[in-house]
Amino acid sequence: MTRILRAYPDELEIQSVREGIALAGQILKEGGLVAFPTETVYGLGANALDADACRRIYAAKGRPSDNPLIVHIADIADLERAAVRIPASARMLAEKFWPGPLTMILHRNADIPDATTGSLPTVAVRFPSHPTAMAMIRAGGGLIAAPSANRSGRPSPTKAAHCIEDLDGRVDMIIDGGEVGIGLESSIIDLTEDVPVLLRPGYVTVPMLRAVLGDVEVDQAILGSDARPKAPGMKYRHYAPRGQMVMVEGDEHAVAAYINERAGAFSAAGKKTAVLCAAQSAGWYDREHLRVYCLGSREDPEQIAANLFGTLRQCDTDGMEEIFTESFSVGDLSGAIMNRLEKACGHRKIRIPEDGIIDDTGRSERNEDSIGE
Ligand code: AMP
Ligand code: MG
Repeated sequence: MTRILRAYPDELEIQSVREGIALAGQILKEGGLVAFPTETVYGLGANALDADACRRIYAAKGRPSDNPLIVHIADIADLERAAVRIPASARMLAEKFWPGPLTMILHRNADIPDATTGSLPTVAVRFPSHPTAMAMIRAGGGLIAAPSANRSGRPSPTKAAHCIEDLDGRVDMIIDGGEVGIGLESSIIDLTEDVPVLLRPGYVTVPMLRAVLGDVEVDQAILGSDARPKAPGMKYRHYAPRGQMVMVEGDEHAVAAYINERAGAFSAAGKKTAVLCAAQSAGWYDREHLRVYCLGSREDPEQIAANLFGTLRQCDTDGMEEIFTESFSVGDLSGAIMNRLEKACGHRKIRIPEDGIIDDTGRSERNEDSIGE
């Protein structure tokens, strides 16, 4: 049975909530699984020092075992229990961005079992800023391994209802801390090489990292090359809704006209068709043949990021079979938003050129992309 505990950040002082968090801590110490809110997405936690507990995470999610977990801490002193030979760069980043949405890859402390790190010699560590997460991590012993709390292959959860949808009956407890703030997973930076390398784009951007570290490289796999990604999880096809999804790029009016035309044909063939769009263009779509999902204003990239995963899930709930999305190269979060959207599309993209002649071959899906995050 899965217990549901409501523990919003402003409720942590309430006696019954404190008792609930203490129970979550006990469950974790005994090797159980607890889904919990963070400022990025919901995580599925287990004691990072307990190999059997971490194996249960993989089983509950259906996650491939080569895909390592992130170790969450809630006290900077615990960094040394997770990692060794910690470079000055890590201290500088911790000073600037922790608690917060940044994960660092460091040399692993031998106390962290293979089951947590997918047998890698390195370990991923993050100090989340969500008050409920911090309380639970401390109650659970200080080192909590957690990937996102979705079934493998589904969009990451941004509210407790998503965790319940995916994990009810498969985990011991789900803590409802309300909707998350950011809605995209943490940025991941590898500090074990000579030059730091960004492995996954997130809320903490490359310019923000360069302001602290100077030189920062970006893993080629993020930039769209077919190179093998350095974060094992980035090779998996995730976030994908069940319907077929494609991104359409070009002049915004031409994009809407193209999608309307295709939607007419899909609808004539009896297919449920959707478009993910910005508030600015939501009025241009043919609502007779299309379900319109508005992610938010192009002026407000944070809103678009926060709505993305929930909207992908809503497409599944509504049974959408053909899904078009506009491109969202909006502000500092472009890299993070487009990375998730392109994965959701399996890298299928249609560019509408200025001459109007359409090349819809797009990029083929990467061979190595397979369901798994
Ligand atoms: P999730 O928590 O579901 O967002 O997944 C964790 C992400 O961190 C995955 O993409 C992993 O591949 C990545 N990760 C965890 N540990 C390491 C590590 N030691 N080296 C590189 N990437 C890692
Ligand atoms: Mg994940």
